[in-house]
Amino acid sequence: MSQPIIAIVGSGPIGSAYARVLIEQHPGARVVMFEAGPQLTGIPGESVRNIQDPEAKAQAREKSQGPQAGAYRAALGIPEATVTEGMFTARQGTHLLDFGGPGSAHAPSFPAAAAATNVGGQGAHWTCATPEPAFSEKIPFIPEEEWESLMAQAKGLLHVQGEAFADSAVGGAIRSLLDEEFGAELPDGYGVGTLPVAGDPQEDGSMRWAGADVVLGPLIEPRSEQASRFELRDLSLVLRIELEGQRATGVSYKDLRTGQISFFAADAVVVAADAFRSPQLLWASGIRPAALGHYLTEHPVVISTVALDAQKMQRFATEQDLEAELARRALNPADPVAAVNRIPFSEPGHPFSVQVMYSESTPFPMDPQAEHANNRWGYVNMGYGMRKQPRFEDAVSFDDSELDYRGLPNMRIDYALTASEEAEIEQATQGLRRAGKALGAFVAEPRLMPNGSSLHYQGTMRMGQFDDGTSVADPYSRVWNYQNLVVGGNALIPTATAMNPTLMSVAIAVRGARQLAAGLAANAAAHAVQDSLPTH
Ligand code: FAD
Repeated sequence: MSQPIIAIVGSGPIGSAYARVLIEQHPGARVVMFEAGPQLTGIPGESVRNIQDPEAKAQAREKSQGPQAGAYRAALGIPEATVTEGMFTARQGTHLLDFGGPGSAHAPSFPAAAAATNVGGQGAHWTCATPEPAFSEKIPFIPEEEWESLMAQAKGLLHVQGEAFADSAVGGAIRSLLDEEFGAELPDGYGVGTLPVAGDPQEDGSMRWAGADVVLGPLIEPRSEQASRFELRDLSLVLRIELEGQRATGVSYKDLRTGQISFFAADAVVVAADAFRSPQLLWASGIRPAALGHYLTEHPVVISTVALDAQKMQRFATEQDLEAELARRALNPADPVAAVNRIPFSEPGHPFSVQVMYSESTPFPMDPQAEHANNRWGYVNMGYGMRKQPRFEDAVSFDDSELDYRGLPNMRIDYALTASEEAEIEQATQGLRRAGKALGAFVAEPRLMPNGSSLHYQGTMRMGQFDDGTSVADPYSRVWNYQNLVVGGNALIPTATAMNPTLMSVAIAVRGARQLAAGLAANAAAHAVQDSLPTH
């Protein structure tokens, strides 16, 4: 096994982090990545937010929408499926799990659950907010020093910028107003600040947003040595992880262009197919630990839109600052986000992750005659993200007797908010009202989004320190009792968190990948010793 083959299921940021670290850490490793969706951009996994042409951007988003992909599905060369609108419009680029058509999941208590099916996964559509976990959000059994090293590598993989848009005077004025309102209540180091985001600032002041492309890095650079050991197969749906006893031997997958089902042999398998479809694949493969699919959490979200008040803003920014901001924005009209600020999670007083996105326009059309239409100082879209305490009964479960539209055991999601969450939602709503008043006037009142809206689904393959039935994976992300089967993604997060989880999940993936690479290298060394022993 000096040249082990690793099969990775899913091409989002987490599958890509595994591919990158494995290939970089193991000089002989070869990675084949299977992705059920199509490649959207010339550069695999690039953020669709970087596409300038509105028509091309809309097409890329629709191609990501699996069973709801509409007209573009035929263009992909895969058979037309029933297209059904869901009760809530899924965020652009995503598709609802409970879409109501044939083969739809059942999620009446978690109706906004959604996924993206494309090269780069949800990471081709994400907002790129990359805060770090803090206080009780962190995983207690990963040592602090190692965590810092994992975080540093994860930030590098995602191209995280701590000071994005920090030079925007308009953004600075928003921070000053929020600081006046909340600063005295927040602990040192956890006050109002800029929100770290994943991307590369361009010379003209715009941002090239990060997707799985930057995580893959040299693996997708033409003619690089690493690229020669990496292969991405799009429109390849993995149906089953094949096993021999407690070992994974490879995957069975369907080529969605031809319909052909094949077996691919591998020395190790990594499943990073999102927090619903990864446990579904484990279940379909007969891997069914008691915690699989359970302890589902997400972030209840209260959101609103506020028109920035000229008088308040002018206390900290001038008309010239605003002109400069508008001129900078005009360089990239396709990307409506400018300054991004936040108030991070801290305990005990502020168990919320507050995101404040400045934009020239509202995310919804406004009547031009409405009071705050075409507001000269623009708007902020604000959200309070909250915790959901993990409970066994919040779960995705699978039904062997009813297959979904992909031919896998269908999903049912059961989920409920408890008094603990209701109390924090009330507190968050009050906080949002205060923030709105400090900045201007509400054009959309604070409202709680339907369950599933956060797109941050966690806990369904949680990691644990001990195999005591409350976790699916060990501290290195290996499925308990399967040495060469590793799982990745937000589903591994065992704690109640409020912050956007991708950076944390990439850090967890780096730990899993380092360990897997070391294990494969150790196996190779053991085989080499065995081969050199004299035979009798
Ligand atoms: P995904 O990115 O979901 O990728 C999983 C991939 O697996 C998919 O491409 C899927 O098609 C594929 N797959 C599934 N089943 C199979 C199968 N059987 N065979 C083959 N392939 C399969 N997070 C943040 O931290 N910050 C943010 O600001 C943020 N904003 C977001 C905004 C939007 C609009 C969206 C949609 C998401 C946002 N997220 C954000 C969430 C973030 O995108 C996810 O946390 C991240 O993409 C998870 O990475 P992943 O690799 O685990 O899964």
